[in-house]
Amino acid sequence: MTPLQALQKYFGYSEFRHEQEDIVKQVLAGHDVMALMPTGGGKSLCYQLPALLMDGLTIVISPLIALMKDQVDSLNVNGIPAAFLNSAQNPDEQRDIINRLNRREIKLLYLAPERLFGSESKLINFLKSLPVSQIAIDEAHCISHWGHDFRPEYLMLSGLKNEFPKVPVIALTATADKLTQKDIVDKLALHNPAIFVASFNRANITYRVILKNKSFYQLLDFLKNRTEDAGIIYCLSRKSTETLAANLKDEGFSAEAYHAGLDNATKARNQEAFLRDEVKIIVATIAFGMGINKSNVRYVVHMDMPKNIEGYYQETGRAGRDGLPSDAVLYYSPGDVMKLKGFVTLEDNEEQSRVMLRKLDDMATYSELHTCRRKFLLNYFDEEAPDNCGSCDICLSEYKKFDGTLIAQKALSAVARLNQRFGSGYVVDFLRGSKSDKIWNDHKQLKTYGIGADISKAQWQRYLREMQAYGYLKTSDDGFPVLKLTPKSDAVLKGTEKVELTESQIIEEKTTEIPPF
Ligand code: ADP
Ligand code: ZN
Repeated sequence: MTPLQALQKYFGYSEFRHEQEDIVKQVLAGHDVMALMPTGGGKSLCYQLPALLMDGLTIVISPLIALMKDQVDSLNVNGIPAAFLNSAQNPDEQRDIINRLNRREIKLLYLAPERLFGSESKLINFLKSLPVSQIAIDEAHCISHWGHDFRPEYLMLSGLKNEFPKVPVIALTATADKLTQKDIVDKLALHNPAIFVASFNRANITYRVILKNKSFYQLLDFLKNRTEDAGIIYCLSRKSTETLAANLKDEGFSAEAYHAGLDNATKARNQEAFLRDEVKIIVATIAFGMGINKSNVRYVVHMDMPKNIEGYYQETGRAGRDGLPSDAVLYYSPGDVMKLKGFVTLEDNEEQSRVMLRKLDDMATYSELHTCRRKFLLNYFDEEAPDNCGSCDICLSEYKKFDGTLIAQKALSAVARLNQRFGSGYVVDFLRGSKSDKIWNDHKQLKTYGIGADISKAQWQRYLREMQAYGYLKTSDDGFPVLKLTPKSDAVLKGTEKVELTESQIIEEKTTEIPPF
């Protein structure tokens, strides 16, 4: 049977996706492989198909015991003999699986790393007595300190190549930058591996960022026509997941909360209900989601700004794993950035907090983009992308541009006259000629005071953000939200450079056309 025939026979799919076919062929040829594919890209098939085509047993290492059952069940439904061994099983169940392994009745065996290598475990010696033809390591980034989900028990896997020197190893992950990739190869001691990095583009996901303004009502508006759809809503705090879930229930939605502080029974119940479509909405902290195999999640909403692009992309990637059109919505507020930065500066490790601050800035930049969001995300992961994706809020909208030079000059001279020592709130109030006591009396004497009274507060804030995005203004390097001039400001003030600004009203939103997955 060829790989393609096996794909059709066992999985009912007509063709391979991405680089699945090449990966399968490499494994069948006995090579070590490392494969990076986005969530929903179809990683499982890369080892499941070879498992069926090779004699002998495939061992699958997976971090989450809770997920093994789902994976094994869905293989069994397709008539593929798979099983798992874990500490939650009673001795009889375990013995039964050992017997079936002895009778060579099982093709795929799922294990947690500590089960394979645990000190009391005789399992490894038993498995070495079986004809093992492949070892697959799911979520391989967990072996690296540089990955964002390091798991110490994964380090045990560095002994794998010693124990099974002749068995090809395939390492799979959806999230690993260059550093993490190298670390995975080193720690697993992969031998001259074939490395596959699939495109991380999730063409069926439309990305939107909406400026936060009474976000609960904004959310209700978004959910209005989606009552039948499954979705995940992420919040920063445990408390807010519970409050939001309760509020959504009050509005008649089918919603449950999920966070690490809930007892195990509640967590399991809410997750199960969501997987079975009995609950439509899970309101969760980022504790929810890793390895969740639910293909029909139609939207992922972030009520608060995530801490970094990696996490954000991973979380939004849980939408649309079936390839159908799906939405990723982020409610953004510059205040969130300040709040998160505040938390970060409390960290004692200086190097760590510097990295975290930089990542927060990247996330803020993404949120305030005036160019294609998909391009930014893909570039972030070192992938090329066209300027216009046709399916993010920026590319879908025809914003009208206008000559905003005069507005920019007013803003820049205000910043200059205030000696570059004030934040945007003060600058705006000053421009609008606010009578408030907060404005210093000296400032009320300046010529620039009140020169922008014709423009609303919110509008000014938008223009200031846009000017920052174009580099005409910046915030202070020391992390304070103080507006500063940049080398580009001068030409604008002198009138030698024109500034194009965007009219805030969206003129038209085109309907989405989904490019092929
Ligand atoms: P992940 O990379 O996140 O582990 P999965 O292996 O769970 O992704 O696959 C995601 C979904 O895509 C699953 O529903 C799977 O059955 C489906 N899938 C995988 N490969 C193909 C294919 N070649 N054609 C159609 N659907 C596929
Ligand atoms: Zn775009």
